[in-house]
Amino acid sequence: MTTSTRQLIEGFRRFRARHFDENEVQFRALVEQGQSPKVLVVACCDSRVDPALVLDCAPGDLFVVRNVANLVPPVESHGKYHGTSAALEFGVRTLGVQHIIVLGHARCGGIRALMNRDAEHENSFIDGWMELAETARSEVLRELADASDSERERACERRAILGSLRNLKTFPWIRERVEAGELTLHGWYFDIEHGELLRYDETANRFESL
Ligand SMILES: [Zn+2]
Repeated sequence: MTTSTRQLIEGFRRFRARHFDENEVQFRALVEQGQSPKVLVVACCDSRVDPALVLDCAPGDLFVVRNVANLVPPVESHGKYHGTSAALEFGVRTLGVQHIIVLGHARCGGIRALMNRDAEHENSFIDGWMELAETARSEVLRELADASDSERERACERRAILGSLRNLKTFPWIRERVEAGELTLHGWYFDIEHGELLRYDETANRFESL
């Protein structure tokens, strides 16, 4: 299925009919009172894994941060352009979300690029960004030395979620809220091959079907 800009405009008309006519009161309240989502989702840019669609949410429900391979960088004091960190800061400190979900997914192109890195694309923005998942990559290569490429990619997609959960706790205003019980961190994995949603269970140290 391909979407042309004409289809998008038709889509907007349906959205407008739904939210500005039928539920006008609901949407107007959101506009006038501002957003107060309880959940922040870190998701991939992948066009197949839109969190609001996959989790069947309405406007105002989710504060969404999307980047290549749904990665969270560690806190850094240098540099200026930290898009993901800025969005986390706004969601946590200004909006006061109560949950952060790192939503990984199967068949992730970013993870595939990481696992099949070649010299041809060296120094690309993607390679630089994907260094955030380097620990996940080396762990998987070591532990699944005899596995197929696709098995390793699936493993790395999940392992990278755990790295992002660790990095979330390097932000002092996240760590403090987690320790105070005001904020809960979740690692979820959307298996687009089998239409399943899995959750990381910290005690069992594995992903389990929801
Ligand atoms: Zn992806």
